[in-house]
Amino acid sequence: MAWYAGVDLGATNIRAVVGDGDGHVQGTGKKGTPQGPSGIDITERVLDTIREACSDANREPTEITAAGIGSIGPLDMTTGVVRDPANLPDTIDQIPLTGPISNLIDGPASLHNDANAGAIGERFYADYNPDNMIYLTISSGVGAGIIVDGNVLSGWDGNAGEVGHITVDPEGTMLCGCGKRGHWEAYCSGNNIPRYAKELHDGEETSLPIESPDMSAADVFAHAAEDDFASSVIDRVADWNAQGMASIIHSYAPLVIYVGGAVALNNPEAVVERIRDKVPERVMTNVPDIELTTLGDDVVVKGALASAITGIRR
Ligand SMILES: [Zn+2]
Repeated sequence: MAWYAGVDLGATNIRAVVGDGDGHVQGTGKKGTPQGPSGIDITERVLDTIREACSDANREPTEITAAGIGSIGPLDMTTGVVRDPANLPDTIDQIPLTGPISNLIDGPASLHNDANAGAIGERFYADYNPDNMIYLTISSGVGAGIIVDGNVLSGWDGNAGEVGHITVDPEGTMLCGCGKRGHWEAYCSGNNIPRYAKELHDGEETSLPIESPDMSAADVFAHAAEDDFASSVIDRVADWNAQGMASIIHSYAPLVIYVGGAVALNNPEAVVERIRDKVPERVMTNVPDIELTTLGDDVVVKGALASAITGIRR
């Protein structure tokens, strides 16, 4: 029997799975992502996490036929490394992945950005998996993996689908982490929802800890049930989400959009259901199904596994 490995490299955690050719997971591993000092330390931890998953599945790494990786970016596809990752300390300039993993398993390793891995995972595992579908993640950032006519869109550098940087607000109220104004994720990502709440606040009475530097997106969602201001923030966030969603629907004509990432997974009614309500009035073409991911937290690591099984390259 052939065995495959999938890896999810995030800014906080590294996860790995080992599975068979049908995508059934037989072993798992999970470790914290080292915050340096160098990228090599992260590479070593990735290899350790794969070894842990192999051991959990009672397999040797050399029994693995192929591996897939879903990773934070930006990616350098020609060398198979993550270069200057945005959400890790500045001392980390590059994280070699495909070369060292390929040496460990003695087989090919393919690298995908995490949203593309999510799309590959939904295509492989979901019951409804048409040739035209999108996986959208709303977490610390906003991004998409896009499948058109059965092909996963990659772009020349593997960074297609950076839809979080679509301009949704022509007034450009919010500054995005990328340095430009008015981008989708500047309003709707987990990091930016509390910033946006502070921006909107104009002296209204609210139970939110609006002055606290520690106010989180979770606080805004938690207070929205009973606090008019928090509720209005969540509604504005849903408007921007629907606006961004309408842009990708018009661009790619999907039949279904699966939504994942911590912000969506933790607040499916306030995020996914509201998008579903607000999208139709903004779309002139077919309105796709808009669903919470079927794979929960496993969407990237299972997508990475699926990419190894199906041999999907960039
Ligand atoms: Zn941006």
